[in-house]
Amino acid sequence: MNLRIGNGYDIHQLVSDRPLILGGITIPHHLGLLGHSDADVLTHAIMDAMLGALSLGDIGHYFPPTDPQWQGADSLKLLAQVNQLVRSKGWQIGNLDSVIVAERPKIKPHIQSMRDRLAEVLQLSPDQIGIKATTNEKMDAVGREEGIAAYAVALLMQD
Ligand code: MG
Repeated sequence: MNLRIGNGYDIHQLVSDRPLILGGITIPHHLGLLGHSDADVLTHAIMDAMLGALSLGDIGHYFPPTDPQWQGADSLKLLAQVNQLVRSKGWQIGNLDSVIVAERPKIKPHIQSMRDRLAEVLQLSPDQIGIKATTNEKMDAVGREEGIAAYAVALLMQD
Protein backbone atom coordinates (compact mmCIF):
# COMPACT_ATOMS: atom_id res chain seq x y z
CA MET A 1 0.00 0.00 0.00
CA ASN A 2 1.25 3.49 -0.86
CA LEU A 3 0.93 6.20 1.77
CA ARG A 4 1.35 9.95 1.36
CA ILE A 5 1.14 12.74 3.93
CA GLY A 6 0.38 16.42 3.38
CA ASN A 7 0.00 19.50 5.51
CA GLY A 8 -1.96 22.69 5.09
CA TYR A 9 -2.17 26.07 6.80
CA ASP A 10 -4.46 29.05 6.36
CA ILE A 11 -5.32 32.29 8.11
CA HIS A 12 -8.03 34.87 7.44
CA GLN A 13 -8.77 38.22 8.94
CA LEU A 14 -11.75 38.73 11.27
CA VAL A 15 -14.03 41.61 10.28
CA SER A 16 -17.56 42.75 11.03
CA ASP A 17 -20.44 42.11 8.62
CA ARG A 18 -19.22 38.68 7.57
CA PRO A 19 -20.50 35.28 8.72
CA LEU A 20 -18.07 33.05 10.60
CA ILE A 21 -17.90 29.75 8.72
CA LEU A 22 -15.58 26.98 9.92
CA GLY A 23 -15.67 23.45 8.58
CA GLY A 24 -18.83 24.37 6.67
CA ILE A 25 -20.67 25.34 9.85
CA THR A 26 -21.88 28.88 10.48
CA ILE A 27 -20.92 29.83 14.03
CA PRO A 28 -22.71 32.68 15.81
CA HIS A 29 -20.19 35.49 16.42
CA HIS A 30 -20.08 39.27 16.00
CA LEU A 31 -17.14 38.94 13.59
CA GLY A 32 -16.59 36.77 10.51
CA LEU A 33 -13.71 35.88 8.23
CA LEU A 34 -12.77 38.06 5.28
CA GLY A 35 -11.87 36.43 1.99
CA HIS A 36 -12.70 36.06 -1.67
CA SER A 37 -14.61 32.84 -0.97
CA ASP A 38 -16.52 32.22 2.25
CA ALA A 39 -13.06 32.30 3.95
CA ASP A 40 -13.54 28.95 5.71
CA VAL A 41 -9.94 28.61 6.99
CA LEU A 42 -10.36 25.08 8.28
CA THR A 43 -11.69 23.76 4.97
CA HIS A 44 -8.93 25.64 3.12
CA ALA A 45 -6.20 24.11 5.30
CA ILE A 46 -7.69 20.63 4.77
CA MET A 47 -7.78 21.09 0.99
CA ASP A 48 -4.14 22.19 0.97
CA ALA A 49 -3.18 19.14 3.06
CA MET A 50 -4.96 16.82 0.61
CA LEU A 51 -3.37 18.49 -2.43
CA GLY A 52 0.01 18.65 -0.71
CA ALA A 53 -0.02 14.91 -0.01
CA LEU A 54 -0.09 14.27 -3.77
CA SER A 55 2.18 17.21 -4.68
CA LEU A 56 -0.70 18.72 -6.66
CA GLY A 57 -0.03 22.32 -5.70
CA ASP A 58 -2.35 24.42 -3.57
CA ILE A 59 -5.90 25.72 -3.62
CA GLY A 60 -4.77 29.07 -5.06
CA HIS A 61 -3.80 27.16 -8.20
CA TYR A 62 -7.22 25.52 -8.63
CA PHE A 63 -9.41 28.33 -7.29
CA PRO A 64 -7.47 31.59 -7.85
CA PRO A 65 -8.75 34.53 -5.77
CA THR A 66 -8.53 36.66 -8.93
CA ASP A 67 -11.21 34.53 -10.62
CA PRO A 68 -14.71 36.03 -10.08
CA GLN A 69 -16.10 32.48 -10.32
CA TRP A 70 -14.94 31.84 -6.74
CA GLN A 71 -16.35 35.09 -5.31
CA GLY A 72 -18.24 34.12 -2.15
CA ALA A 73 -17.75 30.44 -3.00
CA ASP A 74 -18.96 27.78 -0.59
CA SER A 75 -15.65 26.16 0.42
CA LEU A 76 -17.37 22.79 0.85
CA LYS A 77 -18.05 22.81 -2.89
CA LEU A 78 -14.35 23.38 -3.50
CA LEU A 79 -13.54 20.60 -1.03
CA ALA A 80 -15.82 18.23 -2.96
CA GLN A 81 -13.85 19.06 -6.12
CA VAL A 82 -10.50 18.44 -4.41
CA ASN A 83 -11.88 15.16 -3.06
CA GLN A 84 -12.94 14.19 -6.57
CA LEU A 85 -9.46 15.00 -7.89
CA VAL A 86 -7.79 12.89 -5.19
CA ARG A 87 -10.14 9.94 -5.76
CA SER A 88 -9.80 10.18 -9.55
CA LYS A 89 -6.08 9.52 -9.09
CA GLY A 90 -6.83 6.35 -7.14
CA TRP A 91 -6.18 7.75 -3.66
CA GLN A 92 -8.36 7.77 -0.59
CA ILE A 93 -8.07 9.56 2.72
CA GLY A 94 -6.90 7.48 5.66
CA ASN A 95 -7.48 10.28 8.11
CA LEU A 96 -7.31 14.03 8.53
CA ASP A 97 -6.29 15.94 11.61
CA SER A 98 -6.54 19.66 12.18
CA VAL A 99 -6.23 22.51 14.65
CA ILE A 100 -8.22 25.73 14.63
CA VAL A 101 -6.50 28.62 16.41
CA ALA A 102 -9.03 31.19 17.58
CA GLU A 103 -9.17 33.38 20.67
CA ARG A 104 -12.96 33.60 20.42
CA PRO A 105 -15.63 32.32 20.04
CA LYS A 106 -15.56 28.92 21.74
CA ILE A 107 -15.07 26.39 18.96
CA LYS A 108 -15.54 23.17 20.93
CA PRO A 109 -19.38 23.14 20.91
CA HIS A 110 -19.29 23.13 17.08
CA ILE A 111 -16.61 20.51 16.47
CA GLN A 112 -18.92 17.52 16.12
CA SER A 113 -21.09 19.36 13.57
CA MET A 114 -17.97 20.26 11.56
CA ARG A 115 -16.73 16.66 11.61
CA ASP A 116 -20.12 15.39 10.46
CA ARG A 117 -20.37 17.99 7.69
CA LEU A 118 -16.82 17.45 6.41
CA ALA A 119 -17.26 13.66 6.57
CA GLU A 120 -20.39 13.94 4.46
CA VAL A 121 -18.64 16.01 1.78
CA LEU A 122 -15.51 13.82 1.78
CA GLN A 123 -17.51 10.54 1.87
CA LEU A 124 -15.70 9.54 5.06
CA SER A 125 -16.68 8.52 8.56
CA PRO A 126 -16.51 11.35 11.14
CA ASP A 127 -13.97 9.29 13.08
CA GLN A 128 -11.49 9.83 10.22
CA ILE A 129 -11.63 13.59 10.80
CA GLY A 130 -9.89 15.12 13.79
CA ILE A 131 -10.61 18.73 14.68
CA LYS A 132 -9.07 20.39 17.69
CA ALA A 133 -9.24 23.98 18.85
CA THR A 134 -6.89 26.15 20.85
CA THR A 135 -6.38 29.83 21.57
CA ASN A 136 -3.18 31.74 20.90
CA GLU A 137 -2.98 32.73 24.57
CA LYS A 138 -3.77 36.36 23.61
CA MET A 139 -0.48 36.64 21.69
CA ASP A 140 0.05 37.98 18.18
CA ALA A 141 -2.66 38.72 15.60
CA VAL A 142 -4.78 35.65 16.35
CA GLY A 143 -4.50 36.37 20.07
CA ARG A 144 -5.72 39.93 19.47
CA GLU A 145 -8.74 38.47 17.62
CA GLU A 146 -7.61 39.98 14.32
CA GLY A 147 -7.92 36.62 12.60
CA ILE A 148 -8.40 32.87 12.84
CA ALA A 149 -5.87 30.30 11.63
CA ALA A 150 -6.06 26.59 10.91
CA TYR A 151 -3.55 23.78 10.42
CA ALA A 152 -4.30 20.39 8.89
CA VAL A 153 -2.57 17.15 7.97
CA ALA A 154 -3.93 14.50 5.63
CA LEU A 155 -2.84 10.88 5.25
CA LEU A 156 -3.71 9.42 1.86
CA MET A 157 -3.68 5.76 0.89
CA GLN A 158 -3.53 3.96 -2.43
CA ASP A 159 -3.97 0.19 -2.87
MG1 MG B 1 -7.99 30.69 2.64
